[in-house]
Amino acid sequence: MVNRWASGSLAQRGQANRLSHGAAIMPVLLIVGGGLFGSQAAAYARSRGIEARVFDASLEGAASPAAAGLFKEAWAGKRLAEHYRRAIPVLDRLYGIRGVTLKNDDGEDESFQCVPPSAILEKKPVLAKVTAVGDGWLETESQRHEGWVYIAAGIWCQQFLPELAISGKAGAAFAFPGEQPGTIHAIAPGRQAIAFVRDPGFTHFSDGTAERDYAQEHEQATLSRAAALGLTDTPVMRFWGYRPYTPGGPVFRRIGERTWLATGGRKMGTIVGASFACRLVENELRA
Ligand SMILES: Cc1cc2nc3c(=O)[nH]c(=O)nc-3n(C[C@H](O)[C@H](O)[C@H](O)COP(=O)(O)OP(=O)(O)OC[C@H]3O[C@@H](n4cnc5c(N)ncnc54)[C@H](O)[C@@H]3O)c2cc1C
Repeated sequence: MVNRWASGSLAQRGQANRLSHGAAIMPVLLIVGGGLFGSQAAAYARSRGIEARVFDASLEGAASPAAAGLFKEAWAGKRLAEHYRRAIPVLDRLYGIRGVTLKNDDGEDESFQCVPPSAILEKKPVLAKVTAVGDGWLETESQRHEGWVYIAAGIWCQQFLPELAISGKAGAAFAFPGEQPGTIHAIAPGRQAIAFVRDPGFTHFSDGTAERDYAQEHEQATLSRAAALGLTDTPVMRFWGYRPYTPGGPVFRRIGERTWLATGGRKMGTIVGASFACRLVENELRA
């Protein structure tokens, strides 16, 4: 991977943003990664009149298709409270927040909010691997593009910023045929097994497994927990991905005059991705 932050592109910056008669034109927002982070940035930018183009290489291990899309204020806690506060109106405006009720171990109903990844993920990204990024430009194998650049490449962000400390913790989710009533079962403090209808016609199951060295035994344990909640049919879909972890919490960094990077969504990628999308557009691009 070649990363160039050469000032050669600085000269092009000013020129690219002016029409011949001097009127300023808005740069295109070029986004590396079509997961929750990149897709929400694209949707937010477009909602503010900024053209956005998402590049995605369809890498195995991308986290976003696995996300249940569930969230609640208590899960955000104090550390992510600011993200939560910023994300809720964004998610509601862009996609609409759904209410989900799950029955807990005591037989009580618990309320959650949900935006499934199917509502968020970019429908038609440019299916291409970004091979190099510099300040205000990126390259795929066939083309160079100029504009604002937002690197939202999940656990692969490090190829564009080698000093970034990031690790991936893997887990799997499964879709079972049919729609079962929503259930939540406590596994450990801060960790639950959840079964609910994420997508029509199916019951989505996940159990918070997050392992650096994911093995068959983790997969078997997840399927056993699903069976304990009555999901004994053969799953029709397996979603497997690496949650991005960055030390000290999520990362949003301006790494060039016209280039930003964001990752570290952990188990709260829907919320943090929405919060960062708002920050990018309102505090950086429109400031
Ligand atoms: C089983 C499971 C359940 C989860 N449940 C929830 C949940 O209920 N709620 C919640 O908020 N979060 C949940 N998460 C966490 C959430 O999925 C992640 O925090 C989030 O998806 C991270 O999004 P991202 O866009 O940063 O990364 P990713 O989704 O990994 O996306 C990065 C994208 O970048 C692309 N890419 C990388 N390099 C390049 C390149 N060079 N060129 C082009 N494209 C590139 C990849 O193809 C990928 O699509 C869950 C995760 C897992 C695994």
